[in-house]
Amino acid sequence: MPLVNPREMFERAYREGYAVGAFNVNNMEIIQGIMQAGAAERAPLVLQVSAGARKYAGQAYIVKLIEAALIETDLPVVLHLDHGADFAICKSCIDGGFTSVMIDGSHLPYEENIALTKQVVEYATPKGVWVEAELGRLEGVEDDVVSEKTVYTDPDQAVDFVKRTGCNSLAVAIGTSHGAYKFKGDAKLDFERLETITNKLPGFPLVLHGSSSVPQEFVDMANAYGGKVGAARGVPEELLRKAASYGVCKINIDTDIRLAVTATIRKYFAEKPEDFDPRAYLKPARDAVKNMVQHKIKNVLGCSGKA
Ligand SMILES: [Zn+2]
Repeated sequence: MPLVNPREMFERAYREGYAVGAFNVNNMEIIQGIMQAGAAERAPLVLQVSAGARKYAGQAYIVKLIEAALIETDLPVVLHLDHGADFAICKSCIDGGFTSVMIDGSHLPYEENIALTKQVVEYATPKGVWVEAELGRLEGVEDDVVSEKTVYTDPDQAVDFVKRTGCNSLAVAIGTSHGAYKFKGDAKLDFERLETITNKLPGFPLVLHGSSSVPQEFVDMANAYGGKVGAARGVPEELLRKAASYGVCKINIDTDIRLAVTATIRKYFAEKPEDFDPRAYLKPARDAVKNMVQHKIKNVLGCSGKA
């Protein structure tokens, strides 16, 4: 099945009150783990590639690995650029076969964010490519994206932004953040703000970044086998479930994949120090990605059986 534009996927998710998982991919094992989870649950999938992943694997490798995955599946799959920093990277991905791009002008002054987003929309739309934009800013670190503090999305500005840019979906800041250290005090999201945005933009798909839950089992496993992950905390899964009923159609998950892979490999190395075949430890890591993503699809995102 060829890659799809996310329009129909998100329209149905919006209507039925669930979210599609957008999982960050960097290598073959992660792609395979996610695809296996999607197949087991019959779930639509967004595979997303950050600038860091493009740098690590190379765009051609990532695209070809995903093309290989498509040969073996009949699930709808979107290939999405995560956090496109400028027009050039968006253009390169659009020309390279991506069906969706994010242009992240959230760090720019408002009018510049509008101008940049509009430029990408004007290039992408005639080519049938979806454009996600961001308004507001998330705290934390994710590959090349670093921000010291959260700027919550202003609902009235969101309406103006969507109208003037013509973007197809919008990443909003309501208290999630990038990385493994999301909350110091109580974990909470600003649902009042989210509801206001949804009411002002009826039918318009919203996106949550920084939405890993940082499962304690992986933190504990990594630390039990020599890791120093510290007091990492993510977004409680019940809050993500709730967000999906407020017009959030795409929920981004990256950190949890990293933790699943690393914790599993640490455990393997500790238990079988004599092994040195990468297949021996990448296989359980791939299985851990599959199980974690399957759990998200089924119990958090609610998109099982929606493919
Ligand atoms: Zn993000």
